[in-house]
Amino acid sequence: MRILVTGGAGFIGSHLIDRLMEQGHDVLCLDNFFTGDKRNISKWFGNPYFELIRHDVTEPIRLEVEQIYHLACPASPVHYQYNPVKTIKTSVIGTMNMLGLAKRVKARLLMASTSEVYGDPDVHPQTEDYRGNVNTIGIRSCYDEGKRVAETLCFDYHRQNNVDIRVARIFNTFGSRMLENDGRVVSNFVVQALRGIPLTVYGDGSQTRSFCYVSDLVEGLMRLMNGEHIGPINLGNPDEYTILQLAEKIQKMVNPDADIQFKPLPQDDPRQRQPDITLAKTWLGWEPKIHVDEGLKMTIEDFRDRLISK
Ligand code: NAD
Ligand code: UDP
Repeated sequence: MRILVTGGAGFIGSHLIDRLMEQGHDVLCLDNFFTGDKRNISKWFGNPYFELIRHDVTEPIRLEVEQIYHLACPASPVHYQYNPVKTIKTSVIGTMNMLGLAKRVKARLLMASTSEVYGDPDVHPQTEDYRGNVNTIGIRSCYDEGKRVAETLCFDYHRQNNVDIRVARIFNTFGSRMLENDGRVVSNFVVQALRGIPLTVYGDGSQTRSFCYVSDLVEGLMRLMNGEHIGPINLGNPDEYTILQLAEKIQKMVNPDADIQFKPLPQDDPRQRQPDITLAKTWLGWEPKIHVDEGLKMTIEDFRDRLISK
């Protein structure tokens, strides 16, 4: 199949491309390299079934494809808050452009939505029918509301134009190839511990997150794309930790001498987050297989190799 992956040079997108290439598909990787890295996909350069397109999804593009994994959007709070107006444009105009493309060529489009559509949730764990608690005017809103509109666009194109859609609500995902300066919690703690500098816990560290290893997530995305259900569907690992527990875990695994330093909690930081994955289990026969400890080991090794080779 001819498959387009937007955001394909990024963290999740490049792992997805590896799987699609290994399955023998014809893969188009589209990216503007805002947070993507050519090294993530360089092993496919020269392969006749792989094509790299430097393009910004906020601009229309004409391509002929059968499936679209639409992942293009900065995902780390540090990156999506760097230029919030651009973040909204990427989610809203970018998704509209990709849905327009899907409509024209009758492709199936999977949109990478997020657990952030639940905001600071007062239902725990979060089920897909929970409508969320999102601040419309805060510093996270450019991302959260952008993704909420992107979901709305998917369902309106589906109802109005019969576009074949799939919507995944992705929860915190980690693994190899995260950028050193990504700014998300796992990569920050691992890089800090490896460098022997204090691990920066925001707030008192009692807020929770549930961490999914990237290979599990990619498997879930592919099952959703190729299954019958349109979603939205939660994809994540229900294994929940406080941020302080995560810091202590990484400290123990990498560098027991590294200190933990408490920093102010950013505005609107969700207090708790855990996916209810009943739907993914029943609809897709999917659940995560990699325990967070095993995933952390692989992530630590990946960062160790990259930091040493510098
Ligand atoms: P990432 O930042 O590594 O990847 C995003 C990719 O999109 C990058 O390669 C970037 O250069 C590209 N991009 C950004 N804006 C673009 C634009 N305007 N045009 C073209 N390309 C653009 O992030 P990721 O963690 O791989 O996330 C991928 C997708 O999954 C995102 O849509 C994100 O919102 C979603 N998601 C990720 C997580 C997670 O924990 N990693 C959780 C929920 C949702
Ligand atoms: N966090 C932290 N230290 C860091 C980076 C993040 O304590 O160096 C916290 C952050 O405040 C949040 C949690 O870790 O409570 C997860 O943050 P991340 O940016 O990874 O993802 P998100 O908040 O979008 O789930």
